[in-house]
Parts: sequence; C-alpha cells; structure tokens
Amino acid sequence: MIVYFRNDDVDKLTPELINLISVFVKEQVPLNLEIIPGRIGIGSTLINNLKKVIVKNSDYLEIHQHGFNHFEYESYNEFPESRDSLCVEKDIKIGKELLEKKFGGFFYPVFTPPWHQVGTKHIPILKKMGFKAISAGFNLKYDLLDLSVHSDLSTFDKKLNKSRFATVQELIEKYNNFKKNTTKVGFYMHHRFFTTKESLEPIRDFLKYLKRENVKIVKFSDVLNENRFCNTS
Ligand SMILES: [Zn+2]
Repeated sequence: MIVYFRNDDVDKLTPELINLISVFVKEQVPLNLEIIPGRIGIGSTLINNLKKVIVKNSDYLEIHQHGFNHFEYESYNEFPESRDSLCVEKDIKIGKELLEKKFGGFFYPVFTPPWHQVGTKHIPILKKMGFKAISAGFNLKYDLLDLSVHSDLSTFDKKLNKSRFATVQELIEKYNNFKKNTTKVGFYMHHRFFTTKESLEPIRDFLKYLKRENVKIVKFSDVLNENRFCNTS
C-alpha cells in the first residue's frame, strides 16, 4: 500500500505554504507540489525563495505542473474540448519549459489539470510533451498513468451544512475505506485554507498514524519508478 499527498495552486511562497511544508518535512514525509507556471515570474524574489525551500528540503518535495495559468475558459475547465489544440499545446509547453528552467531536476513531468478537467482530444499533447502521468479525479480514465486522488482533507459536515477540515479520526476512516479497493491512495489539499496552526493538526496526526502503520508515503516519481519494474495497479 502506498499513499501520496498533493498540494495544489502553488504560485508563491506564502506563510500558509511554509507552514504546510513544515509539517511534512518535520514528519519526514514527501509532499507533491503542483505549481501554476503562468502565475510565477521567472526572476521574481517570491519564486526564488520558494526554490530555496525546495532545494533545502528536496528529499520531501517534488514539483509538478498545474495547468498553465488556471484560467477558467469554461466552467471549472482550463482545457475544455472547445479550445484550439494549438493554443493548449502552446500554453502547456511554455508552462513546462518555465518549470524546467526554474526548478531543474526538482520538476518531474506529471500534469495536474485544474479542477481535474482536460478535454480528451488534448491528451496526446501531454504524451507528446513527455508527461509520464496525469493526476486527476478518481475514475477518470486516460491513456497515461493516472495518479488519482481520492479525497481532499476536508469533509462535508451535515450539521454545519458546509465543508470543514476532517478530524484525524475521519481521515483514518476515509483511508481505511479507500484502501479496500486500491493499492494507491491519494489525498489532495490547498495550502491557502490552512490559515491557523490548529488547522494543520489533523494532517500531522494522520501522517503519524500512517507512519505507525508502516504505510509507504511517496512522491509521484516514486510511483512511476516502481511501475517500471512491476505492474502493480
Ligand atoms: Zn487548482
């Protein structure tokens, strides 16, 4: 059984991002970071500071591409079928080259489309660009390895009638339900919502639980490297 954690919408180094990264680094557990390339400036201080954090903690952090600029061309979709494939290809290419230039070997070619949406006709572009996997919603089938995520770190509270952070008990319960049907369980999150120290406690405790259970927590590249040698699903 392997588990991976994915944090989306990274474009600059904010206190919320620093605090989330600290939790994973302190527990010595990898965190996959999905960067929006169209929102970072190649020479900006902010992205240079983010790079310093990544270089310092490279055992636990890995960079991937989260769309281009997260623009909503259609409802919750940056890459709808209606967009011209040449424009999509240009966006994805510029984004990938920017991340490669800025992050070098810390970037690994996995594509995470915003809102987990990308038109089927655009999938060959990803293959042509050398992406090795896509990380989208559970049950979406593409002709690329799908590093699906099963749940975010919140839960819908019927009493409050809104989403809130899941407790550690709820996260453990989710994990134990997911693992009945798969050998890879993925969780995702958005660092901007973790605005208090308390909001990070369930993740910290959940990581401690997984470590006690000897669960292997991995970067996306670890999954791909493992798949080269055996055909585990
Ligand atoms: Zn996003």
